[in-house]
Amino acid sequence: MAWLYGQRLPREQLPFSQDDIDAALHASWLHEQPGLIKTSQGWRCVRCGNDDRSRFASFPCARCGTDCCYCRKCLSMGRISSCTRLVHVKKPLPSEQYAAPLDWNGTLSAAQEKAAMEVKQAVLNGRELLVWAVCGAGKTELLFPAIAVALEQGWRVGLATPRTDVVRELAPRFRQAFPRVPLTVWYGGSEERGRIAPLVLSTTHQLLRAYRAFDVMIIDEVDAFPYSVEPMLEYAVSQARKEQSSLIYLTATPSRAWQLDIRRGKRQAVVIPARYHGQPLPVPSFEWCGNWRKRLERGRLPENVLAWVLRRLEQGKQAFLFVPHIDELEAVTHLLQQVDNRIVGVHAEAPDRAEYVQAFRDGSVPLLVTTTILERGVTVPNIDVAVLGAEDRIFTESALVQIAGRVGRSASFPDGDVRFFHHGKTTEMVRARRHILRMNEEAKKRGLLHR
Ligand SMILES: [Zn+2]
Ligand SMILES: [Zn+2]
Repeated sequence: MAWLYGQRLPREQLPFSQDDIDAALHASWLHEQPGLIKTSQGWRCVRCGNDDRSRFASFPCARCGTDCCYCRKCLSMGRISSCTRLVHVKKPLPSEQYAAPLDWNGTLSAAQEKAAMEVKQAVLNGRELLVWAVCGAGKTELLFPAIAVALEQGWRVGLATPRTDVVRELAPRFRQAFPRVPLTVWYGGSEERGRIAPLVLSTTHQLLRAYRAFDVMIIDEVDAFPYSVEPMLEYAVSQARKEQSSLIYLTATPSRAWQLDIRRGKRQAVVIPARYHGQPLPVPSFEWCGNWRKRLERGRLPENVLAWVLRRLEQGKQAFLFVPHIDELEAVTHLLQQVDNRIVGVHAEAPDRAEYVQAFRDGSVPLLVTTTILERGVTVPNIDVAVLGAEDRIFTESALVQIAGRVGRSASFPDGDVRFFHHGKTTEMVRARRHILRMNEEAKKRGLLHR
């Protein structure tokens, strides 16, 4: 039953006989608790924390013979109903210490180094810390020293990120940096999900499987959808980490509430205002483009937007063009394909998304029209970025900072054009620009820029 360590599962999902489970419960090796708890309002799901009445339903249950209530919110991971028993291992997890587990010969920038030391201290002291690092600061590497010291203590480290792509992308980098340390990856469809290891990379959603498993919990892109709007994931984190544990948040764009907390000293944070290559962040410029939606309906793009695109095609410089919604994406892509048929449009739900992104990386696609979904994670060395309709409410400060953050990430091409085409400047646009300028000032003040 050792594989059950660090997980909490409905009893019926355990591949053991009822007698064996009962014996383990009796020996206090396993612990059992109800899946749903009755509250004054209705129910609360113990696995996902849901207590919203509208997210429960009932069904005629064969097991308990009643109209049994179940949680709809975490249904995708198996049904938790009022007669479900959740089981976890009561005994502490056995731990193994790893001497000098880090095998990485890269170097950290001065700013990374400083943050790395603070993260290490937070981990050793079981504290909470926010790492506010600009896009391209190299936040993964700065975790290595802290993770190494945790593994030396025999602690378990869980790193959760909202998206499966990122889990997949990080896994080989961690395997390389910690070659002798077992690592499992948890995402929907992964064979290893739920399997505890000294190092676990998980989607925030799959964390719901874990219970009191991690001594060090790292949450990547803490501001990103869906973590920021989904209390379930915050609950998942609270259940997955041990009561005595450290909690490290990573973000390039903390919410306004968190920014305020930091300024007031209510939240511990370390800020990395400069990219690892020491060049300032490209600052967005604003350009009015009139009523572009109306123009689009007439089958045309605003002149200045079209000119921007043509210039990039002429120069052979790759670019992203962000638009607010899928229907606009289709219209814009259709128009631009008449100019150059290699241009493609990719939106969040496109099944062939990965293929197009790869084609863009390979350079066979000169310009990619997209919605916000590609704003994070995708790194292509030498590109320009424009937003059409930057005034749309979907483009928040954080989304716009992330979009601008796609540009100039490589040391060989630290520059690039970031253009927000708009039909009326918004507060969010102004905030995004100010955010970037402030980071550049801070970087300069701290002597982190090479120029
Ligand atoms: Zn039942
Ligand atoms: Zn639930």
